Amino acid sequence: MTDETHHVRRSCRAMLRAGCLTIGLLGMAHAQDRGTWTQPQEPFRIFGNTYFVGTRGLSAVLIASPTGAVLIDGAVRESAANIASNITAVGVRLLDVRLIVNSHVHSDHAGGISELQRRTGATVAALPWSAQVLRDGRKDRRDPQYETSTPPAERVARVRTVHDGQVLHAGDVTITGHQTAGHTPGGTTWTWRSCEADRCLDFVYADSLTSVSADGFRFSDSRTYPEAIDDFRSGFAFLRTVSCDILLTPHPEASGFWDRIARRDSGQRDALIDRAQCARYADAGDAQLRRRLDAERGQ
Ligand SMILES: [Zn+2]
Repeated sequence: MTDETHHVRRSCRAMLRAGCLTIGLLGMAHAQDRGTWTQPQEPFRIFGNTYFVGTRGLSAVLIASPTGAVLIDGAVRESAANIASNITAVGVRLLDVRLIVNSHVHSDHAGGISELQRRTGATVAALPWSAQVLRDGRKDRRDPQYETSTPPAERVARVRTVHDGQVLHAGDVTITGHQTAGHTPGGTTWTWRSCEADRCLDFVYADSLTSVSADGFRFSDSRTYPEAIDDFRSGFAFLRTVSCDILLTPHPEASGFWDRIARRDSGQRDALIDRAQCARYADAGDAQLRRRLDAERGQ
């Protein structure tokens, strides 16, 4: 559970205005959103050594080199086999995946990690709060969605704790983790550079920025996660200034990914590139947080 809650609430709000009943809507929105989470997707090259190996509804990104590869996110547990076969389909041996990292530990992005670790032998690296949740395989009270979220399916075996701004290497791949928390206390954005011939582009895999929670949690005065607002704001500030040629997000639709891919496939060679998109993504998260805080003040 995650951003799904956000989508559900948004569609509920829209449809409640039209006079619909909440209960029926919740069921419908759930079915709709989850539908694409496990829908198989043919893997493909995004640019250079960066590949999309996820499902239609959940991103998993592979950065490859002749001496080792990095996988970002593992979708839900039941898609792990599908992601593994996507990795081999783009020509990377599972044993060459040395490192697995994660956007945030909700089950739709971390559920497949333990199985993918078993199949690849990779080390998992995460910021301290996320690393602990992955090791424990249990959700933590600091998560704004604690009451409703599903933890990663299983405990993850080898989890290395890294810090904000740490540069990681796997073979010839270099990737940096940046704390962009708030959605969870361990939310992480990953950055790297991919090249094709003499053209290099800066990738940003930005974590979810949605300020959604279980009922009863308040971002404005939480006792379990009092840093939530500050965390969100420093994440927004980071994303407004990071060098960003191509934005990717854990939920592809959150950054219009499929639309951009369709435009590229129809001949717009640079349809994926938009150097202002990370800042707009941060602005949208910021606006949502402001609305959320306004609503909490009114309660
Ligand atoms: Zn989430």
